[in-house]
Amino acid sequence: MTVLVKPQALPDVKVREFKMLIDGKWVEGVETGTIDRVAPSHGVTVSRYKSATKDDVHRAIAAARGAFDHGPWPRMTAAERSNILLKAADMISVRAEELAYLDAIEAGKPITQVRSEIAGSVDIWRYAAALARDLHGESYNTLGDGMMGVVLREAIGVVSIITPWNFPFLIVSQKLPFALAAGCTAVVKPSELTSGSTLVLGEILMEAGVPAGVVNILVGMGADVGASMTSHPDVDMISFTGSTGVGRLTMANAAQTLKKVSLELGGKNPQIVFPDANLDEFVDAAVFGAYFNAGECCNAGSRLIVHRDIAGDVTARIASLSEKVKVGDPLDPSTQVGAIITPQHLQKIQGYVSGAAKSGATVAHGGSQIDFGFGQYMAPTVLADVKPEMAVAKEEVFGPVLSVLMFETTEDAIRIANSVDYGLSAGVWSRDFDTCMTIGRRVRAGTIWMNTFMDGAAELPFGGYRQSGLGRELGRHAVEDYTETKTLNMHIGRRTGWWMPR
Ligand code: NDP
Repeated sequence: MTVLVKPQALPDVKVREFKMLIDGKWVEGVETGTIDRVAPSHGVTVSRYKSATKDDVHRAIAAARGAFDHGPWPRMTAAERSNILLKAADMISVRAEELAYLDAIEAGKPITQVRSEIAGSVDIWRYAAALARDLHGESYNTLGDGMMGVVLREAIGVVSIITPWNFPFLIVSQKLPFALAAGCTAVVKPSELTSGSTLVLGEILMEAGVPAGVVNILVGMGADVGASMTSHPDVDMISFTGSTGVGRLTMANAAQTLKKVSLELGGKNPQIVFPDANLDEFVDAAVFGAYFNAGECCNAGSRLIVHRDIAGDVTARIASLSEKVKVGDPLDPSTQVGAIITPQHLQKIQGYVSGAAKSGATVAHGGSQIDFGFGQYMAPTVLADVKPEMAVAKEEVFGPVLSVLMFETTEDAIRIANSVDYGLSAGVWSRDFDTCMTIGRRVRAGTIWMNTFMDGAAELPFGGYRQSGLGRELGRHAVEDYTETKTLNMHIGRRTGWWMPR
């Protein structure tokens, strides 16, 4: 059983049409191709985009290059850039409901959840605006009477920003404001499935006073538009969030011209729970961590590593709480789990569940799709008796599927946690300080939650170990990521050297 929130049909929905943003103008693109987005929740077309070609990519990169090399943006004071970013933050707040609707209808995300993502994004834009004014280098007045060193921080240049469909507005907000704060210019490509909110952001930035060419936004397929953006010689840096496979391709493309690369990739994040933990709080966090955003989340807590003594009890409690999760219409404010992004992705999720069952896992709850007559939905699913070597325990399922694995000793738990290729985040649940700290120090992941899960703040860096990525977003160094350092090495007074008399 699952609590269902049946979506209302949308017979008269108006298809919203978007153009692309190049050099401060909304344009149709070199060719007249379009991409239609069908709402995954309702099965009707809701958005139509002009699709970019490689020529459009070249034009957008030329605009960003020109704006960086000759335009006012990198030459403004940090205070001026900061004020524009603050204005943009205010305008995002004003258009929050429109942005939330676009992400909900294009991605199938619950509207209540997206509203808080937009509010969180506003906070990030403000944080980036504050950091803009604190960007500084270093000085060394300690090199002797005749020498002084100054280390400058300079904007790195043109940045290609490529984002996925799972958090359309939040993820672009983890990248673009920091690049802009540093004085960079950008070409942005959202996923072609969920480009609406990023294009509205383009309108907001133009209105807030970002000069033409500083932010260019293209809609198109990753394999051609994205690939051109990662290989073009005039791009200085790539900031990518998406699958580990495309992350690898991106790095290979970037290697041809040795671009700086920042990658936020997949995760297979464990939550380790010991018998002394507060199990009520843990069960709640386990269900939230697995089903939040329908599990289409790089941070999903998709592996529970549970002490053998409590595994039966914990699994039963999680299965029982899973029954209460409200699944269905993303536009209903009570919905907790919305639609699955595409029919193909639903098939992929189901393939993992049936593969696990064939390999000996037990379906303790859910396991199948939910049919409302349109759209695609998946029941929250709990798999028990999962072994670390099963695909469902090692690979990113990206759906509302929770795998329960067992451990006996702390060493076992650490070994299982570290046994996958990923290292994005992990959780540990225990009332014992030593246990939490041992897990916290030995599990190889970019974020470790202790007695909580998936909390975050703009101040806290986010990113992965191993195949979960390269670099960190957010945190007080986030603007520095979009800079180069330059050393000014200065001589004072009479210089002595090889041939000069001392
Ligand atoms: P992708 O990695 O393919 O997509 C992410 C972004 O990269 C999209 O904008 C995509 O464009 C673009 N892209 C695709 N191919 C290229 C390329 N060759 N060069 C440059 N950019 C490219 O993820 P998918 O959407 O295909 O999802 C597949 C799996 O990836 C999921 O099942 C999940 O496991 C994982 N994933 C992880 C995410 C995370 O947050 N870590 C986010 C999304 C997916 P477009 O899609 O428009 O073609």
